[in-house]
Amino acid sequence: MIELEAAGATDVGKVRRNNQDAYLMGESVFAVADGMGGHLAGEVASATALQPVEKLDGRVFPDAPAATRAVVDAVVEANEQVSDKAGSDPDYQGMGTTLTAALFEGRRLHLAHVGDSRAYLLRDGELSQITTDHTLVQHLIDEGQITPEEAATHPQRSIITRAIGVADHVEVDSMTLDLQLGDTILLCSDGLSGFVTDAAVKHVLLTRRPPEEQVRELVRLANEAGGGDNITAVVLRFGPPSEQALAAAEAKVDRDTEPNPTGDDAAGDEAADADPEGPVRVRTSEERDQQDWAQRLGRFGDRDSGDEPKGGPSVARRWIAITAAVVLLLVLVFAGGRWLLSRSYYVGIDPDSETVAIYQGIPVDLGPLELSWIVERTQLGIDELPEYFVESLHDGIAAIDRRDARLIVENAPRTDEEEPDDGTTSDRGPTPTAAPTAGPSPAP
Ligand code: MG
Repeated sequence: MIELEAAGATDVGKVRRNNQDAYLMGESVFAVADGMGGHLAGEVASATALQPVEKLDGRVFPDAPAATRAVVDAVVEANEQVSDKAGSDPDYQGMGTTLTAALFEGRRLHLAHVGDSRAYLLRDGELSQITTDHTLVQHLIDEGQITPEEAATHPQRSIITRAIGVADHVEVDSMTLDLQLGDTILLCSDGLSGFVTDAAVKHVLLTRRPPEEQVRELVRLANEAGGGDNITAVVLRFGPPSEQALAAAEAKVDRDTEPNPTGDDAAGDEAADADPEGPVRVRTSEERDQQDWAQRLGRFGDRDSGDEPKGGPSVARRWIAITAAVVLLLVLVFAGGRWLLSRSYYVGIDPDSETVAIYQGIPVDLGPLELSWIVERTQLGIDELPEYFVESLHDGIAAIDRRDARLIVENAPRTDEEEPDDGTTSDRGPTPTAAPTAGPSPAP
């Protein structure tokens, strides 16, 4: 039996009020869950989902298939328990969670996975994602509609197509990995993978620091990149590493640490993902807009808060300059704002009919100023949607264009409710019955 060093850490991040992530550190089982749902429901969902996995801890299995079955069964049971809770308590209605569970059996690792938390493998100095995200953007990549690079900044990259607890049945991905000495496994929530580049994660895992320090460093990087979501990381290191792996890793650390102005990274590794800028926070355009505005407002605020001496002719000149700047800014905002509004789309809720609608403009309420309007209505009622998705709709889900907005509607996750009319109880991903109806203005 090889030795296993393990450490986990979770952090609320810098934006959310609650930490809905949870993780499990057993002797032989480890897991990450990223809960969603209003109030405390997300926390309940993720904590509940870990319980059946925890029950496997320390168990011995006759063979690899038995171990795989056990961890998949635990995830299925997690789905049942979260669904039951969601169905029996109105406070928990619509809650759900991701779940990525790892079971260590001899020299093998068995993974069972639902959602967009991830498992990575670091082997021989290369980092690879070994789970597949159950997300809208992964679906679009598989369909050839967008590239992985486009997915990284896609406004809908946080929409998941499979989750624990939102339907009676769940499809579980599973895999078995034959471990090699020196392998490192990382389990993490999207609060890490969505904010810190693979190159930066790899850099941390390649250091020979203890896993406790590595998980702290990963959390620190995600917070440094904005901390826009709850952050969870579990590092599992199977050691001791071979001399070969150690030498390769050290050579890599040296190379990655050295300043390399020419950007020439020889040695034939496929370091296509190496990002010279290190950790990069990926922001939605909405967040970017808000932040840019905050920065601009901050700058104007600074100017007024300066404690320059009052009086003198320079004051009048300064006021004229400020007034001129404000007038110019207003003109720019008006002209630019109209231009932006006509090019922005989002999916939201039509308050009159409580159905999903496609809006043009931005989902910001400025009292009498109308910044958005409905361009397409759909038949999709919000009562057919899981609560976490309705929450997103309330905020408005940004779309690249009108076609993109339609895709969001078509791929909207559905609650698994009994529908006596047509009996649609599909719980496996998107239900293509939510085609938008034609709107008053033509598609661009
Ligand atoms: Mg998350």
